[in-house]
Amino acid sequence: MPEHQPFVNARLQRFGTTIFATMSALAEATGSVNLGQGFPDYGGPPEVLEAARRAIAEGHNQYPPGPGIPSLRLAIAAHQRRHYGIELDPATQVLITAGATEAMAATVLSLCEPHDEVLLFEPYYDAYPAVAAMAGATHRAVPLRAPEWSFDPDELRQAITKRTRIIVVNTPHNPTGKVFTRPELETIATLCVEHDLVAVTDEVYEHLVFEGEHLALAALPGMAERTVTISSAGKTFSVTGWKIGWVCGSPALVGAVQAAKQFLTYATGTPFQHAVAAALELPDERIAAVREDLKMRRDLFCGGLRELGHEVRSPASGYFAVTDIGALGEHDAATFCDELPERCGVVAIPIHVFYDHKELASDLVRWAFCKTTTTLEEALARLAKLTPPS
Ligand code: PMP
Ligand code: GLN
Repeated sequence: MPEHQPFVNARLQRFGTTIFATMSALAEATGSVNLGQGFPDYGGPPEVLEAARRAIAEGHNQYPPGPGIPSLRLAIAAHQRRHYGIELDPATQVLITAGATEAMAATVLSLCEPHDEVLLFEPYYDAYPAVAAMAGATHRAVPLRAPEWSFDPDELRQAITKRTRIIVVNTPHNPTGKVFTRPELETIATLCVEHDLVAVTDEVYEHLVFEGEHLALAALPGMAERTVTISSAGKTFSVTGWKIGWVCGSPALVGAVQAAKQFLTYATGTPFQHAVAAALELPDERIAAVREDLKMRRDLFCGGLRELGHEVRSPASGYFAVTDIGALGEHDAATFCDELPERCGVVAIPIHVFYDHKELASDLVRWAFCKTTTTLEEALARLAKLTPPS
């Protein structure tokens, strides 16, 4: 008899359960305030929500075309032109996916052969190494170092091997809130051209930038032909459960991603595709309002943490603040986050889970502030009761 085989293949099994599911379950089980998983506990713009209800009422409830409904692909092409000066043919250069997550999976599955290497920056979004492994590829991680979360160009260069196929660039960045600068993107672009790499960008926080400016790597010289640009509607319109994402790039790259995507979901979310098409046509002030509202939440939460003695730099973008718990006399973020629900009824995430070199993040904790002021105030009140470790 062969030994018992696990049902999950070994490449995937080593990733276990995603931290987001684990921490949301922990919050539920312990009645804790959930600052772990990044999703707003408030609604998106009312006219966006209404557009989804209208799409259902109007009967948009069957499969959409595989690459997505034409009006949404057109709206995304217009969005890329308006914000980044990128010209795209909606028929061949825009593909709608089940969130940025499926976009990333389909991209990696379609571009990587077994044993290819995927280059990441760490901390990285947890799905990246897992989808690389599903493709039979491996990954290398180049650290972003606090406080600027910048990378060493030599370290990046040295991480490129003959097997490197793609580099994933998440800007604005989860969990640090870093917005990659033009010189940093130029360094990445130069290396991509030099080593014939494809850049895959994850830009889901593109409209949630509080300081600085989000730049699209695809708009840099030489990058249009070798960049797969990924984004989604979840963060921009505070509708993370809708899972409408997209891929933009050259017809060849988008065609490749489509080759994988058609056998993953084929297509998803018809009424939400209609609603996102309408949402992208709203005046840009509506998007700016979501950003300003989130900035208020960032300032409330980071200010509150500071008053409680936490060491926190306000992030330049996104949903998360990262703190160093050393300032609290604590030294192990994993234990701290495991015990936090019991100690004071709050859930947060130790960011070493987003690293290969875990020692770089042993004191760092991520807190989601995309929550109502009531939720944030309750979390701060609970954290105020946290007594120093004995
Ligand atoms: N990339 C990053 C960096 C994220 O933070 C998230 C989670 N919001 C995703 C991708 C997943 O996006 P989606 O919900 O559109 O699949
Ligand atoms: N992007 C969200 C986060 O970083 C989680 C999304 C998910 O649960 N996969 O918290």
